[in-house]
Amino acid sequence: MAEHRPAGEAALSQDQQLFVTRPALPPLNELMPLLEDMWSSRVLSNDGKYHEIFERELAAYLGVPHVALVSNATMGLVLALRDSRMRGKVLTTPFSFVGTSHALAFAGLDPVFVDIDADTLNMDPVRLEEAMDESITGILPVHCFGRSCDVDSIAALADRRRIPVVYDAAHAFGVCDEGGSILRHGDYAVLSFHATKVFNTFEGGAVICRSAESKRSIDLLRKFGIVDETQVELTGLNAKLNEFQSALGCVQLRHVDDYILQRGRIDARYRQLIADIPGLRMLAPASGGRSNHYSFPILVEPGYPLSRDALMHKLRTRGVVARKYFSPLISDLPMYRDRPSAAAHNLPVARRISASILCLPMFPDLTEQEQQRVIDLLRH
Ligand SMILES: *Cc1c(COP(=O)(O)O)cnc(C)c1O
Repeated sequence: MAEHRPAGEAALSQDQQLFVTRPALPPLNELMPLLEDMWSSRVLSNDGKYHEIFERELAAYLGVPHVALVSNATMGLVLALRDSRMRGKVLTTPFSFVGTSHALAFAGLDPVFVDIDADTLNMDPVRLEEAMDESITGILPVHCFGRSCDVDSIAALADRRRIPVVYDAAHAFGVCDEGGSILRHGDYAVLSFHATKVFNTFEGGAVICRSAESKRSIDLLRKFGIVDETQVELTGLNAKLNEFQSALGCVQLRHVDDYILQRGRIDARYRQLIADIPGLRMLAPASGGRSNHYSFPILVEPGYPLSRDALMHKLRTRGVVARKYFSPLISDLPMYRDRPSAAAHNLPVARRISASILCLPMFPDLTEQEQQRVIDLLRH
């Protein structure tokens, strides 16, 4: 995650810099026996032993029956969208990582942007309802920062229109509501195991499917549509997770509860230490179930002595690389900004949040001293 330093910034070495994420890794010796086994078997990809074990253990961990591992969330989204039979226009959020809309574009679909709710940062159900018309063939919401969308409103609307829902759940590993994992909602939910996420296999992902049939389709689509030596049933791609990543996934699963617990402690400490700083607003803690503390965003409001960008710059010159997720909005990027739904007046809340948000360092092994360093800079 090294990045180019804007001109004029103090030269700080890599290890003095504090980034928003520092990937969580298990002790290497826990992985070694699995790698040795893999080295002697020479099974490295294509439905190997660790792929099978990881898929099964992941389904058990998440408490969802149909899980298909994939090479990354972007490929998972493209395959799920394709399998969902959406055609043409799809409602989605402008407040996300660019991969969300790019997956639509690669699946031959047309994103229509809907404004977000200021408290959840997810698609606003009222605006969703307003944007719905006969031309809309699906919905692609994002559980932004691991905070659950209004899944009931979305399900009611989608059922009424008989259109599918694919959740971009890249941030939602381990998140539960009162009924269990939020990944059970929608026709598909897609996880990312990228290095920067709560649970990582360096790169990777999974598609949580509602039925055994749709899991079978994703299983085929991720390996060129190949059924066996003579049959190719679907026009698929290569989106397989390899044995190395699957083995790492098995080991990471043993530690992820601990990662989330530590994130929870850091979240609580930030909340306590930031509460009395005027002009910095925090999002309300997610209610009910279990949060994964994906990120720690603050909103820099007019009562704060610096603008968001000035604060970000100040932090960077002192070695704290806070990030403005998500700015620019997806709808402001050159390939999307000309569509009517991208117009500023259609997205006032996303625009306002995007201009004031700043994500602070949040990862399991962030130390108390490092966190204090961030707080001191915010305070003075
Ligand atoms: C990280 C991310 C993705 C892409 O995930 P990859 O596994 O890197 O392809 C998609 N959507 C959101 C919201 C993300 O944060």
